[in-house]
Amino acid sequence: MTHSEKHRANSFDSHDKLARLRNEFHIPSNTIYLDGNSLGLLSHRVQERVTQTLQHEWGNDVITSWNKHNWINLPITVGDKIGRLIGAPEGHTVCCDSTSINLFKVLNAALQINAGRTEVLSTEDNFPTDLYMVQGLQQMLGDRCTLRLVPEAELLHSISSDTAVVLATEVNFRTGRRLNLAKLSEQARKQGALTIIDLAHSAGAMPVELHKHDIDFAVGCTYKYLNAGPGAPAFLYVAQRHLEKHSKPLQPLFGWLGHAEPFAFSVDYAPAQGIRQFITGTPPILALAALDAALDIFEGADMADVRAKSIGLSEYWLERMAAEEVLAKMPSISPAEPKERGSQLAFEHENAFAICQALIAKGVIADFRAPKYLRIGFSPLYNTYTEVEQAVAALADIVHNRHYEREEFQQRSAVT
Ligand SMILES: *Cc1c(COP(=O)(O)O)cnc(C)c1O
Repeated sequence: MTHSEKHRANSFDSHDKLARLRNEFHIPSNTIYLDGNSLGLLSHRVQERVTQTLQHEWGNDVITSWNKHNWINLPITVGDKIGRLIGAPEGHTVCCDSTSINLFKVLNAALQINAGRTEVLSTEDNFPTDLYMVQGLQQMLGDRCTLRLVPEAELLHSISSDTAVVLATEVNFRTGRRLNLAKLSEQARKQGALTIIDLAHSAGAMPVELHKHDIDFAVGCTYKYLNAGPGAPAFLYVAQRHLEKHSKPLQPLFGWLGHAEPFAFSVDYAPAQGIRQFITGTPPILALAALDAALDIFEGADMADVRAKSIGLSEYWLERMAAEEVLAKMPSISPAEPKERGSQLAFEHENAFAICQALIAKGVIADFRAPKYLRIGFSPLYNTYTEVEQAVAALADIVHNRHYEREEFQQRSAVT
């Protein structure tokens, strides 16, 4: 790395509108963290809020906290905070369960609404849990649910008058390719199909406009770009038209806290009004408190600035990789056009796993995705241009000097 390049990175950082937000986070020492697309960093607010919830709310106020600290409504109030980041009007987003479970609920709802049709249309390289949840539902519903998989590039043109629901992830977890939701939704509507969008790699990384694009359902994670912590509760969005009266409950997991009157303890299930019916059981308060605090950081960030910085960091990464002559040795599998990408890049190399391990040994945390991709995630709230410059220099050293061939970088653990 040259002196002038350091200078350049530094100058980009000094013009960064979001630079102050990095101070919100606990940055592990001697670490360049480029894995916020898998597990976002801990923030000071989250740490303080969880401690307070433990000591004051649970510790002192114990069960009275359900009312006194409004625990009972946290899935809804936190849902609305996420709603602001994904273009959802109030009362249409709830925070509960995992993304996988929420997918199950909305898939069932969509198939019920579009009952004359059975086809769930998705992409071959969608995130596996999305496809598994359809397969599980298929086992329950038999021939009322069929799964049709097409290559991502053919999705738009494969929507037909047989399609009940299009199940798509906005940003591909491997390649980072971003779908055009406006076009997808328009085409689905034309064919009478509903849409379920997985926002796992979108929420908190870029502006999302669910209402504007007329999306029917959405789900997503909060432990990635939303920085709410490992296994933090997921979210679920439902368009207004589907929250209006239905003859049957929309989601199949009838739980008491999705009941119209949970404390009447009646024998028969009756769904609550609105988005609340998508809740199943007791909310995980500690995890929701963490998420609530993590979302407050976004109040100081314009999502257009977040997106601009995400593109800035990614483009700078690509520029540095080309300049260091590593890009030719491990080509990008992500779209060249920034607007067709999410907030990550992926590179192909036969030894991607060992390269990733060698990076980690140098304090650069990225991740590996089978079979041969190195994935770099950019979290605009805390990553810097200086980190990009340093990380690419480390990568260049590993690749040019073949450090990845060392025995110590070949061992695989349970989580890769
Ligand atoms: C990370 C991710 C998930 C994870 O689902 P969980 O139920 O939270 O484990 C789902 N879908 C996509 C597209 C993801 O990237």
